[in-house]
Amino acid sequence: MSFIEENLKHVEERIRAACARSGRRREDVTLIVVSKTKPVSMIQEVISLGVRDFGENRPQELRDKYEVLPKDLRWHMIGNLQRNKVKYVVSRAAMIHSVSSLQLAAEIEKECARREVVMPCLAEVNMAHEASKSGIAPEDAVDFVRAMSSFSHLQVEGLMTVAPFVEDAEENRACFRSLRNLAVDIDRENIDNIRMRHLSMGMTGDFEVAVEEGATMIRVGTGILGERNYSL
Ligand SMILES: *Cc1c(COP(=O)(O)O)cnc(C)c1O
Repeated sequence: MSFIEENLKHVEERIRAACARSGRRREDVTLIVVSKTKPVSMIQEVISLGVRDFGENRPQELRDKYEVLPKDLRWHMIGNLQRNKVKYVVSRAAMIHSVSSLQLAAEIEKECARREVVMPCLAEVNMAHEASKSGIAPEDAVDFVRAMSSFSHLQVEGLMTVAPFVEDAEENRACFRSLRNLAVDIDRENIDNIRMRHLSMGMTGDFEVAVEEGATMIRVGTGILGERNYSL
């Protein structure tokens, strides 16, 4: 068994156990394999093991991989997106997880309107107010989602967060729980056309806690494909 196959099997077992512990169904959690910086050959191996959802954080890298790989994959844009790069992502990504400003939302709206497509999006929330991270402040989330709801070519389907880097995953439990509560609060506002269907939260270090707290999408890179080498 290759290291990728072994890692994937192990991650899969841990997702199932976390679902069992919290009374959730495995099919309600999508595993997104974060393939940023990793070569197409590795992605092909992961595809052969049954995965269809991949996460990238650089628009051109997403575009390049999209062009050479099978068209039935679902690409998730999970990284900081500049407005002038939206064009690389629209019509390729299945979802943009990292919408964190109205200017960006307006650009996505414009590009999608031009191509007559609708882009599923998540609002990225900076739960811990970390200066190093993008994302809107939790206290601004309701207004932000309400403002996004006016764009007809952008469908807000939930919230995403990148939790703080911690030694012990338990330290992020409160963060994940707060994101879920925020989604519940937004649903209660009954904003036209807005249903909080998705919570994108949990990475290699803390995905089990995230699943226990209601994640519908987890984003796992290192734990499946190994350490990234950014100097390549
Ligand atoms: C890189 C990245 C991940 C994956 O992180 P790992 O710790 O390698 O699992 C998840 N989410 C986002 C937004 C990322 O940029």
